[in-house]
Amino acid sequence: MSPESLLDDTQAEKQEVKGYFETTGFERWNRIYSDTDDVNKVQRNIRIGHQKTVDEVLSWIKQSGELRDVSFCDAGCGVGSLSLPLAEMGAGSIDASDISEAMAQEAQRRAEEAGLTMSKLHFFASDLESLRGSFHTVCCLDVFIHYPQPAAEEMVRHLCSLTEQRLIVSFAPYTPLLALLKGIGQLFPGPSKTTRAYTLKETGIVQAAERCGFELVRRSLNKAPFYFSRLIEFRKYRTC
Ligand code: SAH
Repeated sequence: MSPESLLDDTQAEKQEVKGYFETTGFERWNRIYSDTDDVNKVQRNIRIGHQKTVDEVLSWIKQSGELRDVSFCDAGCGVGSLSLPLAEMGAGSIDASDISEAMAQEAQRRAEEAGLTMSKLHFFASDLESLRGSFHTVCCLDVFIHYPQPAAEEMVRHLCSLTEQRLIVSFAPYTPLLALLKGIGQLFPGPSKTTRAYTLKETGIVQAAERCGFELVRRSLNKAPFYFSRLIEFRKYRTC
């Protein structure tokens, strides 16, 4: 496949993801990332697994002590599941964005509801590829699931270019067992099957960051039934 058609595919995929998260995806994930009882069993489990990822990130940040004077970028922030508690904990500043206007607006609404109206917390709509600037810490949780390996690695490279010190990402790792389950899922698609979900080879993600001068400092795996997410913290050790 030519680089041009790869790029076209990525653009098409991105538009599809955006459309989904402005409409049915917004409605679905806004419920999952909340405490409403209006979720089914699968969605409840995804909520539990996702909360483990968020809690782990918050605990890594707390342990590091790098919080108060620190600038954060939350790329693909969803409804603010990470940014809101981060603001409550006293983060220096948070620029949180999402490709979906509906998600970013909901995050803003939740911030207002929680009384978090400080100027240091800023929600806006943007795809992560268009983000510019320089942040001490960049987080990107459970966004890569919507993109195939080459696009996800390109996203890692772009996020590295925005990061001064620490990059935290999570994604569904490729494992032969998951590949098998996914295969079965494709043969018998369930009623909730909407967008494609990609599992990613961890070595590719780590190498993409390493080539930008980042090293892996810690990793964990957060699991619940129907949720499986590899979490990695990278640190910058050289400028490319
Ligand atoms: N990081 C959040 C949301 C995860 S859901 C959390 O962990 O709570 C995935 C989010 O990624 C959705 O809100 C979706 O709109 C967003 N997204 C998908 N592709 C994106 C892109 N290219 N740029 C920015 N956001 C994107």
